[in-house]
Formats: sequence, C-alpha cells, structure tokens
Amino acid sequence: MTSAQPRPTAEHAVTVQAALAWAQQQGLSRLEAQVLLLHGAGKDLHDRAWLLSHGTDALTAPLYLSFQTLVARRVAHEPVAYITGQKEFFGLPLLVDARVLDPRADTEVLVEWALSCLADVPAPHVVDLGTGSGAIALALKHSRPQAEVWAVDVSADALALAQVNAHRLALPISWRLGSWCAALGDERFDAIVSNPPYVAQNDPHLQTLRHEPLSALASGPDGLDDIRQIVQQAGSHLRPGGWLLLEHGFDQAQAVHDVLSNAGFEQVQSRPDLAGILRCTGGRWPTVK
Ligand code: GLN
Repeated sequence: MTSAQPRPTAEHAVTVQAALAWAQQQGLSRLEAQVLLLHGAGKDLHDRAWLLSHGTDALTAPLYLSFQTLVARRVAHEPVAYITGQKEFFGLPLLVDARVLDPRADTEVLVEWALSCLADVPAPHVVDLGTGSGAIALALKHSRPQAEVWAVDVSADALALAQVNAHRLALPISWRLGSWCAALGDERFDAIVSNPPYVAQNDPHLQTLRHEPLSALASGPDGLDDIRQIVQQAGSHLRPGGWLLLEHGFDQAQAVHDVLSNAGFEQVQSRPDLAGILRCTGGRWPTVK
C-alpha cells in the first residue's frame, strides 16, 4: 500500500467515490476498482450505475474492510476474474478460478475467426484444444448450435470446471481428457482451434501471471513447444480443407507462420488482437495431399 488509506471514523466516513479513488491510487484501473467494490457489496458486477448514483454514500466499515482486502489481492496480481469467480467471454458468463487460465477478451478474435472459417459448413465438427474454462468451445457451440464441438484438456481439474460452465449454459460439448491431438482418437475436424501455452519459460512476465496455472502459460525456452506439437499432430485430425487456428504471443506470428508452412499448411495467415497485434495465426490443411 503506497498511500494513506482513508479511515472510516464517526466524523469522516469513507464514501464510495473516495474508496474508488483510493483503489486507483493503489494501481487498479477504474473498472477493476468498480467491479471489486460491486463484488464486495454483493451487487451485480454490471451495475456501475449504482456506484455513480451512490457516489457520496458512506461505506459501512465491514464493506470498506473487505474492499481493502479485495484491492490488496488485485495489487498482488490476482486476476479480477479469480477474485469475483466469474468472467464474461463472448457474451457468456463463465465461472473462473485458479484451475484455469483467466479468459482474455483478445481470445474472442480466435472465436470470430473460427466462426468465419466454418460459416459455410452446415454442421461443422470442431475441437478446442486446451479448453481451460471451456471459453472457446462454449462460445463456438453457442454461436453454432448445430456444430459438434469437442473440447480437450490435459487437466482434469480444468475439465471439471469447464463441464460446470457447460451445464450452467446448457451447451452440450464432447469432453476429452488428454494431451492435444492424442485425445482425439482417429477423429477428423473441420477446424482445430487452440489458445495453448505460449509464454517462454524464463519470461519475467510470468511473475505477474503467477496466480494462473503455469501449465496453461509456459511452453519451453521460446514458448513454442506446444504450438510445434499441435501443428505436427493436427494434419491427421483435419478434414481436407480444414483449418488449424492458433493464438500465440505478441512476437510469435512469423515463427508460427513458418511452423505451419513447413508442416504443409496452406493459406497461412494471421489476425490482430484488440490492440492491433498479430495474435492468431492459422492455416488450411490441403484438399489434395
Ligand atoms: N495471453 C496471456 C498473456 O501473456 C498468455 C495466454 C497463453 O499462454 N495462452 O498474458
């Protein structure tokens, strides 16, 4: 804690506004502060209008204390999604905790790309490798109810949470426990989609991601170990003309492009994330091989 904390006393109560300003001084964004205060107050996390209309209300002492604890967790880099236990992805409310990667809005780009690749396939067969919370698989199934969606994870803990999410959203998915394409038997798909681990194992950035499962983040010396494995395996699980679409690090587009081209993929191309950084690269398995 860097700055003096406003103390709730009989003469000087801490208002909603003052508590939010204090949290921002600790390094939280305004949105993070608002979401944590709503969570502490037991309100709907979307109800920021409530915060605005109650800006001059005094916080009760217990709420102010619990808010300080929530802010301290965020200052220690715990994702807001773990603190609140939920995250919206592609418009779907997901339960999220330390068993799975915190789904990022940037990954919605991968879902949109997959949907456009599958737009002309009447009942596409698609798999999400390393599904974590189930985010990608559930977004695909929600957008394409006729699709047969599979989801793979090597973590039984992750699959358990993904299954809870699917149940709550009433979205049927075929779950497979295992490592990448080894979990697929001899099944072939119209698209294989994955947000695999891709951070280099000695990247200092991992320190700020320490609350998330390392196995979902780090992948060997250059961060590409899992992507290379997936690309090597994917061809024998794609239908002719099927797509492999991968999320990767901010500086890996060229490397992933090369891995895909060298493995025989065609139409290899990249897509930018919300910040304009090439974040997803994919290619098409040849129609005639
Ligand atoms: N996008 C995450 C990050 O670097 C990493 C996610 C991943 O490895 N799949 O913050």
